[in-house]
Amino acid sequence: MVSQNRYPKLVVDLAKLRHNIEKVKLMCIDKGVEVAGVIKGCTGLFECVEQFERAGCRFIASSRLEQLEPLKDRGIQTPLMMIRVPMLSEVADVVRLTDISLNSEIEVLKALNSQAGLQDKNHKVILMVDLGDLREGFWDKEELMEAALMVENDLHNLELAGVGTNLGCYGAVAATPAKLQELVVCAEEIEEKIGRELEFISGGATSTLPRILEDNLPRRINLLRVGEGILLAKDLQDLWGYDMSFLNKDAFTLRAEVIEVKNKPTHPVGEIMFDAFGNQPTYEDRGIRKRALLALGKVDYAFPEELIPRDKGIQVLGASSDHTILDVEDAETDIKVGDTVDFDLCYATIVYVTNSDNIEKVYI
Ligand SMILES: *Cc1c(COP(=O)(O)O)cnc(C)c1O
Repeated sequence: MVSQNRYPKLVVDLAKLRHNIEKVKLMCIDKGVEVAGVIKGCTGLFECVEQFERAGCRFIASSRLEQLEPLKDRGIQTPLMMIRVPMLSEVADVVRLTDISLNSEIEVLKALNSQAGLQDKNHKVILMVDLGDLREGFWDKEELMEAALMVENDLHNLELAGVGTNLGCYGAVAATPAKLQELVVCAEEIEEKIGRELEFISGGATSTLPRILEDNLPRRINLLRVGEGILLAKDLQDLWGYDMSFLNKDAFTLRAEVIEVKNKPTHPVGEIMFDAFGNQPTYEDRGIRKRALLALGKVDYAFPEELIPRDKGIQVLGASSDHTILDVEDAETDIKVGDTVDFDLCYATIVYVTNSDNIEKVYI
């Protein structure tokens, strides 16, 4: 048995997370926009999902069915949304486990429809429109129209709930008012053909929140799917320069234990060949400095350069699979063996940390 007080730990401050969900939700509602809370960034940790439910998100959303699968059995009543366009091989589960999915393939829509029939269910779909970011979505507007009309008129177990788009993922394309207006135009063309209003026009993710902050979101957009902007709330501040001081940046803390502290040279001693990952790095010689070794490694977070020590005097020097090497010469406290060191996470690391079975999850 491993002892109770084991490290590394991920400490989740649920009140801080809840605050973020509520603030983002209120700021959206104020502009007539509902929020689908995206839980994939924290690997669908149930205690986090509960906060999304309690804050009253319109949907709880994930790209992975296995994160949505346990939720209804565990008492979550918020409708569930599948946000990665489904694999053909998972359509039965998409219908069984979720209420609504994002889609971009007519063949998959037909398969969802047959499954919904077999399961005696009605499944809602949002058709994704690719506005240039070049990940998922219909590119050809005629194919989009054909799919919309097919869902509306022929696929009787599906309900055409709306259209959506995704921006700022692959192509780094900004969710400008003009881009989002293109989505509204698509929606209105569909509405004209089907003779009714669509329930949802889903204008993207965290990268669309600037439109809420600047109050220039096209009027008809009424649903955003937000993950990072709630969980970490870092990108809008750090990348886009918005004042996001009303959100907590520290709802998640990664805490690891120090297993060695020694004064060592900063430049490796010997003939430099390859590191643990086959790279030939370069090292700056800063003389002898105090270093600490943590029982935590790349398998837990993948990107050492993306770990952010809370103690601003600590620098992450590098890592191998199971070790992280810190420069603690200028640390604010005197670091000793057995101490713990705290880190802020970013999107690149939180997805690994929450996925790692090696990291105990603690809720406060
Ligand atoms: C991941 C994802 C989101 C949420 O993105 P964030 O940047 O975390 O807000 C929204 N929509 C889709 C389709 C996604 O895959």
